[in-house]
Amino acid sequence: MSLALDASLSDVPGLPARIVKALAKEQVTQVAEIVWWLPFRHEDRRQMDGASFQPSEIPACYQVQVCKTGNKFFGRRRGAGLFEAQVEPIGGAIMGELLTLRWWNMSFMSRTIAEGQRLIVYGRVKENKGRLFMDHPEYEILNDEDEAAHIHSGRITPVYRLRAGITQKSVRTAAWYVLQALSEDFIPDVLPTPSTQGEFAGWSRARALRTVHMASSQEDLEKARRYLALEEFYGYQLRVVRRRRAVLDAGGHAHQAGSLAQEFEASLPFQMTGAQKRSLEEIQRDMASNAPMNRLLHGDVGSGKTVVAFAAMLGAVESGRQAALMAPTQILAEQHFNNARKWLEPLGLNVALRTGNRLEEGGVELWSTKKGSDRNHILIGTHALLHDENLVKNLGLVVIDEQHKFGVAQRARLIQKGNTPDVLVMTATPIPRTLTLTIYGDLDVSTLDERPKERGKIITKVRPASKQAEAAKFLLEQLEQGRQGYLVFPLIEESEKLEATAAKKGHEEWSKLLPHFQVGLLHGKLSAEEKDLVMRDFRSGKTDVLVSTTVIEVGVDVPNATVMFIHNAERFGLAQLHQLRGRIGRGEHTSYCVLFIKDKDEEAKSRLAIMEETTDGFRISEEDLKRRGPGDVLGRAQSGQAPLKFAELLANTRLVRLARQLAEKTLDEDPRLESPRLAEIRPFVFQEDAPQAMMQ
Ligand code: ADP
Ligand code: MG
Repeated sequence: MSLALDASLSDVPGLPARIVKALAKEQVTQVAEIVWWLPFRHEDRRQMDGASFQPSEIPACYQVQVCKTGNKFFGRRRGAGLFEAQVEPIGGAIMGELLTLRWWNMSFMSRTIAEGQRLIVYGRVKENKGRLFMDHPEYEILNDEDEAAHIHSGRITPVYRLRAGITQKSVRTAAWYVLQALSEDFIPDVLPTPSTQGEFAGWSRARALRTVHMASSQEDLEKARRYLALEEFYGYQLRVVRRRRAVLDAGGHAHQAGSLAQEFEASLPFQMTGAQKRSLEEIQRDMASNAPMNRLLHGDVGSGKTVVAFAAMLGAVESGRQAALMAPTQILAEQHFNNARKWLEPLGLNVALRTGNRLEEGGVELWSTKKGSDRNHILIGTHALLHDENLVKNLGLVVIDEQHKFGVAQRARLIQKGNTPDVLVMTATPIPRTLTLTIYGDLDVSTLDERPKERGKIITKVRPASKQAEAAKFLLEQLEQGRQGYLVFPLIEESEKLEATAAKKGHEEWSKLLPHFQVGLLHGKLSAEEKDLVMRDFRSGKTDVLVSTTVIEVGVDVPNATVMFIHNAERFGLAQLHQLRGRIGRGEHTSYCVLFIKDKDEEAKSRLAIMEETTDGFRISEEDLKRRGPGDVLGRAQSGQAPLKFAELLANTRLVRLARQLAEKTLDEDPRLESPRLAEIRPFVFQEDAPQAMMQ
């Protein structure tokens, strides 16, 4: 019991030489490598013997004996066909229970699986016409030696993710012997002491590691995973808190808001909501201080972020500096530009627009309300704005709208631009608490949790695509009352071109269905001028209906639009649907959103049900986080099937908060993170599941 982490695997007592050799062949030679080769899943193999096969949606694990095997061929193609192995529970089928394992187009399996073998199989048991099947199961072949050692069954068995050339049984066997011999003295804790009180009393890094390889109960296993998750969250928080402190130390400008913001507020055709006022005060307080502001303003769609941003920008202008507003798309930049002209020019300010598209076409095209003026106070544009050194002279504040399209790297770039402007980022969706603590953890947070009054309701229905004809009738009624509508065509992963084609087809169809109305078409393949024209026509009411791809997703504001149909809604995440839906319900009239899904898609129906239930973006994004993980909440598709569900743990605010506290404490004591132990924290648990933003 005195093995150290840097010991060689050949020194591990009991570990068979053939396994040491097999691992060495793939350059795995050190004890530490096995210790940190964490299982990605566990199977409860404590009581498998004699279990009878149960059809179920949930994969299960059985110990079986092969009674018969055979290949069936269907065509001439080599390898085409089906390899089947009939198996019975170990100890013999009591009531004739037989299960057929099937491998499609893998006739070579006949070289691996043979009659008389004992297997552990893992997969879903399906029933068809009274027979039971399991397709492409995970399997392990048992031999007497394995069973005697109780390494591969008879316990909560770890399952490891494999690399080429190394088998499941090799890793598991190595882990088994390594953990028997490893001395805990060689695994110091990384978390600071308070963590070992409360929930984790009695736990240590050593114990957590031992437990994930050799759990003796499900409860212990769960605790160990949470301990390792805490360690990892702590690692993220160290980076986030350090980044945050670095910004605060950088030294920025003090912007004192004067009468301009008040004048602006008084000129608005509405009263600001309480939440808007509160958020603005928080922002102005940050801006007045010498430390650079780094703040997130988030709130539901339509909660009125733009107005707050404009008011904040005036503070910078009054202190003699420029304020910039960056939007993720051209359409949105232009909309902000129009609003800025409407609201800010009367206050005597110069407003300029700069977008990247123009530059690509050859010349810098710049609209300024007073062309040639070198005093542009308010700059609006896409991120191309920041690269325009003629325009950007003396930046005091940068507002980044719909932040998740920008990302951490660009944010950092801004801050490094020599002078350190105040930064306000605004997101398209409300963000659950745990994410503001992690991914946005280096920002202070203001929340718009109140919708402006006098907003019409939004009624949402999920309907099968076959009901489209009825919906068309309804749309017609609304148009006849003078309202407008959006018809959104589907999300086609990674292909703007296919999306445009689908929208064009939709446009043709709907133009025929609505002969007495004007139907516009908007998609990503149009030039900037064309897009601008389409949007202008829709905004002014010249077109009644806008057929569009998801380019209208963010920020577009046309209060008279009260109907939205979303086609193939099953392809969207909840957060994204909520975003889209936020384009309606912006005026006084009741609005209607219909989510068309594939006929009989029960999964989509149940997933989208929450859209019918609520328009509360905070609830929807919590639900999204639970169901699909943080990637989706942040507007990115995420494939992660990691069984240690990142989302589940992240939804657990307590763990994230604890990690934050521990990180603050560590950095208080060790501001430059000089302790070598901190380098020991690795993103091991969630490697595949964690959003990129957290890895930076
Ligand atoms: P988002 O938060 O989604 O970016 P916007 O800033 O686009 O929302 O605001 C949505 C609409 O609500 C705009 O037309 C805006 O002028 C209007 N608005 C903003 N604040 C208020 C308010 N307090 N009362 C009424 N309307 C408001
Ligand atoms: Mg907006």
